[in-house]
Order: sequence, then C-alpha cells, then structure tokens
Amino acid sequence: MSEKIGTKEAIALEDKYGAHNYHPLPVVLSRGEGVFVWDVEGKRYYDFLSAYSAVNQGHCHPKIVDALTRQSQTLALTSRAFHNDVLGQYEQYITRLFGYDKVLPMNTGAEAVETAIKLCRKWGYQKKGIPENQAKIVVCENNFHGRTTTIVSFSNDPDAQTDYGPFTPGFIRIPYNDVDALARALKDPNVAGFLFEPIQGEAGVFVPDDGYLTKTRALCTVHNVLYIADEVQTGIARTGKMLACDHENVRPDVVILGKAISGGMYPVSAVLADDDVMLVIKPGQHGSTFGGNPVAGRVAMAALEVIREEQLAEKSEQLGQLLRKELRAIKSDMLTLVRGKGLLNAIVIRSKNGRDAMDVCLKMAENGLLAKPTHGDKIRFAPPLVITEDQLMECVDIIRKSIISFE
Ligand code: PMP
Repeated sequence: MSEKIGTKEAIALEDKYGAHNYHPLPVVLSRGEGVFVWDVEGKRYYDFLSAYSAVNQGHCHPKIVDALTRQSQTLALTSRAFHNDVLGQYEQYITRLFGYDKVLPMNTGAEAVETAIKLCRKWGYQKKGIPENQAKIVVCENNFHGRTTTIVSFSNDPDAQTDYGPFTPGFIRIPYNDVDALARALKDPNVAGFLFEPIQGEAGVFVPDDGYLTKTRALCTVHNVLYIADEVQTGIARTGKMLACDHENVRPDVVILGKAISGGMYPVSAVLADDDVMLVIKPGQHGSTFGGNPVAGRVAMAALEVIREEQLAEKSEQLGQLLRKELRAIKSDMLTLVRGKGLLNAIVIRSKNGRDAMDVCLKMAENGLLAKPTHGDKIRFAPPLVITEDQLMECVDIIRKSIISFE
C-alpha cells in the first residue's frame, strides 16, 4: 500500500471500510507540531480543538516523544500480573502532584469514569452501609462522561442513548448548575456519590455559576457522599488551573483524569482518591491489561512535567482572558455568545442567510484554523496551551474574517 494519499482518497477509504460513527470535517491530517497540523496536501492549520483537549502540550512535544520512544524500546507492557519498574515511580509522581494517597491507572477517559463508578458503589456498600444493590449516583443533565453502556445509561443525549438499552440503573439525573436540586437528591440515604464535570465540555463549554463547586462540595460532605470530579476534559491546565476545581479551591474525593495526562501521545487515564476510598477495591476486583504499563507511566510523567516547566496553566489563564476579550469585540450578529475559562472556550452561532456553525467551521478551515461544531450551534475554541500571544491574535483574525464573510 502506498504511503502518499490524497484527501479524497483517504476520506473514501474511511467511508468504505470504517464504521460510520463520526462525522469529521473534510480535512485529512498527516503531521502535527506544536499548535499546527498539516493536511496531506501540505496546507497548514491552527488546531483549535486539540483532540478534545488531549493535546494541551502541543502536537508531538519533543519531551513526550522522547519518553515514548525510549520506553517503548525498553519495555512496553508487562500486564499487572508482574510489577514493572516504572509504575511505582509514576504513581508516586502523580499522587504527590495532585495531593492524593493513591491512583488507579487506566487507559481511556470512559474507563476511568467506569472505575470511579465502581469505586463509588463499593465505598457506598462497605463504608457508608448502603443496602446491597441500592447505591445511587447523582449525575447532571447534559453530562458527557464517555461511551460505555453504563455511562450512556445516564446520558440525556438521544444520539448517545437510542437503541443501546437496556440501561444500567442506579443513577439520578438533576439539572446542572442547580445547588438546590442536588440538596433535594442527597436526601436519599442511598446516594453514594455525585459525579459531575466542573465545566461541561461536550455540552458546549457550559461554565457553572461562581460558587457552584464550593456549595456542591459542602453538600456532599454533609451527606457523606463522594464528590467525584470528571476532569478528563477540564483538567491538566486546560481551564487556567491544573484542575478546574482549583478555581474554587475545592478538593474532590475522587478525581478522574485522561486525555492531556499523556499530552495526547498515548491513551492514559487515572482515578485519584485517598486510602479510605481507594482501598475498598482489593486484588482481582478491578483491572486492565494495559492500565499502568511502563510506556504510559513514562509518557504521563513527561507530559505532566511539560505542564509545569512551561507554566501552561498560567498561560492558559492569561491567553484565555485575551481570547474572550478579542472574540467579544467581533461585530457580527451571527456571534451571540462567548464563554469559557482559560483556553476552554466556545462561541454560539446564530444561523444567518442559511449559514450555520458548520459553515463557519468550513470557512475557518479554508482560512487555516480547525474547530468543530458541538450540539449544532456551538463552536469550541481550545488550542494547544503552548500557543503564543502572537499566534492567538492571528487566530482571532482568522475567526473574525471567517464569521464576517457571511455578513
Ligand atoms: N469525560 C469527559 C468530561 C469527556 O469530555 C470525555 C471525552 N470527551 C470523556 C470522559 C471520555 O473520554 P474518552 O473518549 O477518552 O473515553
């Protein structure tokens, strides 16, 4: 099979041989470096999605590539049937960094969420004394936590759910950003946990009111309910702090991480908790062949070091403010809302002359910037955090020019 392939041919192959479970923009990428990606015809784009916030450290970061290359040439996988000489060092590194007693390593975001659900239920029975099979977990409307059968069981997105039943019971869904709704739900003594996103990413970067995290944390403490933050998309400096919960100095009982924990280099995810919670899972009661492998450990340590060395949380905070200010100054009645925190942002597009958010994205792609609509009218802007101020200003120009072209 030839290596060189054109856009049309690559898309035709995917269409014929791949399942049709995605609807990507019609660009075929073949190279990435920092904030840039190139398509097979050599056109360069700013990446304003960062693989759904997995590539916070930028594409092919040399330090992370080096960690991946070295370790994959030394020892890639042992399974957890044996110890490996990287795992313990990685576990020490990540637990110290985030301030938890223990970590449970997995691979994808959804697996880490599943892990947190199992951990929460077991804790509910063994520590809280919930009667057998009665444990409930409170979740939020418009949540996105992944694609497994249990996780889609508590989604309210018809695309995520339709015809995938029967669903896993044991979840109570309440409105997001509604403290009173949580207070009511927690009156049920069989609630073991509250699983939430500190900012709802897939829902279109929905930022809750200031104080929401503090108040919900306090409620969970009072009711002896685990406070479980899914920081798969918001974590690792994306919103201007290492964790989005840090904005309110709130400490979850369980933190779920994925995506940028590896800089997008390798599927790595993690669940963090203290001994009192984590040690309810005993040998043989949960696991994964690939979770905690030496490549994952090395890659994650390198990726997390990059965040600190390059002060990406601080950069994300500062450039995010600038981005929102500049976007709000764009004069177009198609642009109805700008929102976000750090470099996790979204705009809301009102259709005009039959042109919608998808048309804006196609125009931006033509002008050299890649972003994707989510839920029809929203476009997420989440560039790699290594973007410079000059580059960001150039991107604002591309966005402005693209939107205004429809006036
Ligand atoms: N949780 C959140 C908050 C997410 O945004 C995502 C992915 N968009 C996931 C979980 C699932 O991660 P993965 O696709 O790696 O399974």
